[in-house]
Amino acid sequence: MFEDIPVEVGLVYEGERIRKNDMHIELGGPSVSEKFELVRVRDSCEITDGQITVTGPDISALEEGRSYPLGILVDISGVKLEKDLEGVIERRIHEYSNYIEGFMHLNQRYDIWIRLSKKSFKKGVTSFVQIGKVMLELFKNELPFIEKIQITFITDPEKIAPLHNEALLVYEARDARARGLGDEDVDTFYGCALCQSFAPTHVCVITPQRYANCGAISWFDGRAAAGIDPKGPIYAIGKGECLDAVTGEYTGVNESAKKRSMGEVSRVQLYSAFGYPHTSCGCFEGIAFYIPEVEGFGIVLRGFRDLTVNGLGFSTMADSTAGGRQVEGFHGISIEYMRSRKFLAADGGYDRVVWMPLETKERIKPFIPELVYEKIATEKDAKTIPELKKFLNSCGHPVTTRWAPEDKPDESGIRQVQIFSGGDIPFTSGGVRIILKNAKITAEKVIIRPLKPNERRGGDPDE
Ligand code: SF4
Repeated sequence: MFEDIPVEVGLVYEGERIRKNDMHIELGGPSVSEKFELVRVRDSCEITDGQITVTGPDISALEEGRSYPLGILVDISGVKLEKDLEGVIERRIHEYSNYIEGFMHLNQRYDIWIRLSKKSFKKGVTSFVQIGKVMLELFKNELPFIEKIQITFITDPEKIAPLHNEALLVYEARDARARGLGDEDVDTFYGCALCQSFAPTHVCVITPQRYANCGAISWFDGRAAAGIDPKGPIYAIGKGECLDAVTGEYTGVNESAKKRSMGEVSRVQLYSAFGYPHTSCGCFEGIAFYIPEVEGFGIVLRGFRDLTVNGLGFSTMADSTAGGRQVEGFHGISIEYMRSRKFLAADGGYDRVVWMPLETKERIKPFIPELVYEKIATEKDAKTIPELKKFLNSCGHPVTTRWAPEDKPDESGIRQVQIFSGGDIPFTSGGVRIILKNAKITAEKVIIRPLKPNERRGGDPDE
């Protein structure tokens, strides 16, 4: 199918990481502010089927070792296509472009981070037209309801700016659509198994109030995708009986998770980071991380490059969070889930959130209860746990009411904290894998060390 592409194309390259030293060029990523990918459903007459356009310098004209802005516009038409499918089809850009040897695509929407390896450039990948050809073929083969498709790559900074703004408005409109709907109002949720290729036990459960971890698929998107392709990776989940409205546990979700995770995940509590939390693949937009010293949660989004208040950066914590596991206290989340009334509802919601970067706090300000907004610390208020504790105490953050006297430090200055409880804790020792089922572990001291490069997953490819 790809005879004229000078590198291999296949599933085997999905998940390939290209480190800075091995990259020819970088497109988007943390150092570039204007980057996006957008799928638009259009009228058939507006599309020239098979057309691939490059607006601005092509790959061959871009200087080695540098980062550039990039916009990817995929325009599609088809009688069965509807607007609600745009988000789901857009998510396939990540999957299909990653099939290309030496082409790494991370994240989604306004957060894309792409690298082309030196090796693949030397083999002859010198034009976006080649990338577009692969995507075009895969889109048409895998999603036959797409009748016409044209792809535009934009690298000209002046042309990107207005389209980037347009894309942001489209994402916001998609997200806002599901905001009026409650999980109680529907009897079907949707599951997504798109990320199982690199996290085999991960299954996203998408509900009106729990947006997909990647932030790219809403309940409406799920409904449209399952409707047009019921046997595809996005499928309907009958809610079944509600076992616990507070934690968000449903018989239908449990059964579906068990089946789709090959028995690894048998219970899912949608609104909690403890007990049986929703699994996290590696595509989450952010992490809610438990800070046992203050019994609250910190939040960090992918774009935050500094260390968080617990001394760890996003990438380090992403390794603890990712992999399709249920890890208590390290919870993959989307930004839209942070706007939901069900956000960590079983754990106390925003009354339990104690720290997040200022930019994130301002971004979701309208969705944080007014009474607690000022009491949530940012990097300006606290850079360490002792500073955080002091801040929370001084402003009377609701979490301080959880600080029972017996939780205070003893005379030796040592405070015993519960670091994990429930769920499964796997570890490998002496050549065997040991899984502690429903374990509760307490410790006098917690040592957290960054993983070595060969131990990493889910975070920054360079760290
Ligand atoms: S993060 Fe979840 S919803 Fe998003 S593509 Fe992966 S499995 Fe699907």
